[in-house]
Order: sequence, then C-alpha cells, then structure tokens
Amino acid sequence: MILKGIPASPGVAIGKVFLFDARRFIVSARKIKESDIPTEIVRFEEALIKTRTEIVAIQKKITKEMGTHHAEIFNAHLLVLEDRMLIEEVIDRLKKEHKCVEHVFSRVLDKYIKVFSKMNDEYLKERISDIDDVGKRILKNLLGAKEKSLSDLKEKVIVVAYDLSPSDTATMHKKNVMGFVTDIGGRTSHTAIMAKSLEIPAVVGLEKATARMSSGDILIVDGTEGIVIINPDKAALKKYHARQSQFVKFEKNLVNLKDEPAQTIDGHRVEISANIEMPEEIDSVIAHGAEGIGLYRTEYLYMNKKGLPSEDEQFEAYKNVVTKLSGAPVIMRTLDLGGDKFLSQLEVPHEMNPFLGWRAIRFCLAQPKIFKAQLRAILRASAFGNTKLMFPMISGVEELRQAIEVLNEAKQELRAKNIKFDKDVEIGAMIEIPSAALTCDLLAKEVDFFSIGTNDLIQYSLAIDRVNEKIAYLYKPTHPAVLRLIKNIIDAGHRNKIWVGMCGEMAGEPGFGLLLLGLGLDEFSMSAAAIPEMKYIIRNLKFKDAQAVAEEALTLPTGEEVEEFTNKKLNEFIPNLKKMRRSIK
Ligand code: PEP
Ligand code: MG
Repeated sequence: MILKGIPASPGVAIGKVFLFDARRFIVSARKIKESDIPTEIVRFEEALIKTRTEIVAIQKKITKEMGTHHAEIFNAHLLVLEDRMLIEEVIDRLKKEHKCVEHVFSRVLDKYIKVFSKMNDEYLKERISDIDDVGKRILKNLLGAKEKSLSDLKEKVIVVAYDLSPSDTATMHKKNVMGFVTDIGGRTSHTAIMAKSLEIPAVVGLEKATARMSSGDILIVDGTEGIVIINPDKAALKKYHARQSQFVKFEKNLVNLKDEPAQTIDGHRVEISANIEMPEEIDSVIAHGAEGIGLYRTEYLYMNKKGLPSEDEQFEAYKNVVTKLSGAPVIMRTLDLGGDKFLSQLEVPHEMNPFLGWRAIRFCLAQPKIFKAQLRAILRASAFGNTKLMFPMISGVEELRQAIEVLNEAKQELRAKNIKFDKDVEIGAMIEIPSAALTCDLLAKEVDFFSIGTNDLIQYSLAIDRVNEKIAYLYKPTHPAVLRLIKNIIDAGHRNKIWVGMCGEMAGEPGFGLLLLGLGLDEFSMSAAAIPEMKYIIRNLKFKDAQAVAEEALTLPTGEEVEEFTNKKLNEFIPNLKKMRRSIK
C-alpha cells in the first residue's frame, strides 16, 4: 500500500515499523464473575489512591520550581479524582456488566469526554483535558502499565506515531531510529524540524498511518517525495535501495564544498549557518561546513529531563557549544516554549490557540526567575566564545525593550558577583510576527541583527496553522504577502545598518535560495544536512541575476507563479542541479 504525505526530511529509510502510541492503552473487555466484583472495586480504589499520590507529588515539585500559581491547575485534576458521580457510575456498571474494571472505567471516561465536548460552555470544555489526563493516569495504574518511551528501543526501527512530542524526540534512542512517520503535522512542525536535524528521513501529515500499520510491518519512507510504502514488493524494495544509495552519494559529493565560502560568482558573500536543537548535533554542523550556529533552539535542553535545568547546567551546555564552535558565532535563542513545543514538567494550562497564546517571550517575561536564569547562563557562556543572543516572538518595540531590561538586570547581577561575560554580546530579534515585520524599522534601532522566523511568520501572516496537515497546501513561503514582508524586513535592517538572517525552514529549501539571495538576505541558517546543497547553489549564481529575479518575483500575483518562475530561473542558471537531483529520483 502506498501513502502520500508531506515530505518533512529528505532521504530514504527502509525498515521495520515501531508503532508508538505513548498514551493509548489496550483495554480488553475481560469478563468477570460475580464473586470478583469486590476485588475489582478494591483495584479501582487502589488505582485512584495511587493516581492521587502521583498528582500530589507533581504538584509539590511544580510549587517548588515555579510557585503555587502553576501548581493550582492540579487542583482540577484532584477534583476529577474525587468526582462521586464518575466513581459511582463505574461501580454501578461494574456490578451490572460483569466486565473488568479497566474496561468499564474506560467506557465511562469516553462518555464523560463526549458529553463535555458537546457543551457550549468554554470553561467546561476546557475541563476535557483534565478529565482525559487524569483518566489516562488511572488507566495506566489499573493496567500496571509503564508509560512507553522511545528511550529504550532495542533495534533499528522506523517510528510510526500519531504525533511525537518534543520530549519523545528528545529522549529517544536516536541510533535506533531510521525514520519518522506521523499522522499529523506539517513541514515546520517540531517533528519535521527534529528529523531534519537528526538527518532521519521523515514523512508527516499522513492522517491515517497509525491505523494502517502494525509493529513489525516493513516500510519504505521516502522523505524527499513524501511517500510511504507499507510491506513493499521486491521491485519496490530494489528501486528504493538504489535510490537510498544515490541519495547518500549525492550528499557526499556536495559535502566536498564544506570549506568553500558561500560566495556568488560575482563576489557577493553570504553566511551559511546551522540550526540546532541539541548540542549533540555539533559534529554534524562542523562536518557539513556551517560557518556558525544561526539558531540554537535552547528549549530542547528543558525537555529531556524531569525538572527544569539549573543555571549551572545550562551554562555548561551553552559553554560546551560555544567552545566547540571555536570562535564561530553561536546565536542562542532564549526559551521558545509553547505552540507545539510544550514542557511536560511545567504543565502549562491547556489553551484553545496555543500558537497565539502564552508562548516564547510572553512566557519568559511572565516568569522572570526562569528567564533570568537562562540569560545569566548564556551571558556566562559568552566569556568562552562568540555568543549572540536572540529573543523569539517579539511583537513590537515595547516587548523587546522589556526583554532587554531583564537582560540588563542579569548582566548587573553577574557584574555584582564579578562573573565574566562578553559585555558587547550582540542582541537580535526574531522577526516572526507580522506586527514585528511591519515595524522592523523601529525594531532595528534597538538590536544588532534580525533573524526571520518564516515558520511562524508564514503561519501568522497567512493564518495557516503550521502543524495542521489539512491546510498544509496553503502554507506558501512564496505567497506575495510573505515576500513583501521579507523584503521589508531586509530593507529596513539594511537601512539601519544591521544584518538580516533567516532561520525558518524556508532558508534551507534549495528552491528558495535564488530568491532569498536576490532579496539581499545576509545569513541563511538551516539544518546542517541542507548546507552543502545551498552552498553549491549560491556558489553557482551571480548576485546581479538573483537581484533581477527577486525584483520580478515581487511583481507576480500568486505564490504558485513565484515558485514556477524562480524554479525556472534556477534551472536556467544551474542546469546541473536538476540533473543531480534527477539522479536520485
Ligand atoms: C521560525 O518560526 O521560523 C523559527 C525558526 O522558530 P521555531 O520553528 O522554533 O518556531
Ligand atoms: Mg518561531
């Protein structure tokens, strides 16, 4: 069976399926005798007590780390546990139906969730996630199940999941993961970004992958084309094994450019850097010839652990990264929590619109203790290498100034303790909200550089949820609105004598290289594996041609036409590229 999804990370993987569904428990409808009913009730009560103990422990930890306010949401969880109606309904049905308590409980749970979903009251609707969360915990305790994790994979597999949370990907046993396949998500969802960083072929947004596969099925994942083949025949296996080795060859050839500058034929120089999620990626960053790190997504450091990382722990990690880069710039982005990157240990309240909600800098400004600990750690690391600091999700000057004020306080605290840091550390703003893109002439006066976050800029300017596979076809980086915003940002940056980079996925797409070069982008930051091809493209173009293409592209009325036009031009300027790419088809 062949499935078509969204290509998220290039390359071909062939291997066995590992169906991963961390939170779905298999509950069988086991029959019980009348005489078993009291034992089942005791099992239920024990599971409720155990669940209560677990929730109280989490609540205590959160209170200690983040204050009572954050721990309060667990009161709602505890209330669910004490809901007499729910408990009595389980016991009543247990007596009537003579089925094991986990089956009865899961049916009652489903009924509650259905009833609440139909209600018009927003407050009650929001209780669904509390009921669901507590319900899953009770079920887990009834079944004596351990929560499954990807950290103990014993053999090489292709992970197939509805979705993968950042903590799943951060803790997984990476050496044994050959590919990712998910039901939901888009090109810029964190699963796609993580797959690219790890150089694992991935296809996302397949909608029903988990329903169509079982653990042990053989799978071909073509992350370049977005194709997944379940239990392929011999001919398909042969074809894709060949494609796999051609892809590896294609990549190897390009890596030869690693030490060459990203300079056009007519001498225009840009910088190509890498995006990283975890310090473990640095070897690959260096191997692919990055000139620095254009985006270090520091939030992943917060993900693979129980509590929050301490200031010292963060300092060690950041210091390690800047030291390994030996003088090359490292742009550390401050915590960008929220959207599709949430931290399980913080238990941030469920939001209706998480991408428009308590995210990134908004969260940090509301949590000065957490924010300042990170800023101090970054500043301390700046004494050991070329460190720059960047704030995510800046919406305007006011917010940027607030962030800089907290940074100044952090600097003051370090000075008071005689702790060394680079006092000229450069500060940048990510431009990823339309309000920032439209006021970047004002923002440019407050910072040393801009980095355009197209993943978010596109979703906010086109109103397209970046992780929703159903509307992924509308997610167009070449939409005239997006191009105009990008041009506005670059021009405003240059008028104010600051450099402008891009760290959204658009910067690493070979098809957009010509356009972005022509628009005047100074720095392209992308997943390490994408660097060699982009370098090849830039080295084979003339800046003046690229400028002419960008100028014409800006007059075209649709994203489709822009893409068609720039691709045509790219093939005209570098006919070889198409040939090279065709060889892996
Ligand atoms: C972006 O929005 O383009 C970006 C680089 O940040 P993230 O993908 O982490 O939101
Ligand atoms: Mg972003």
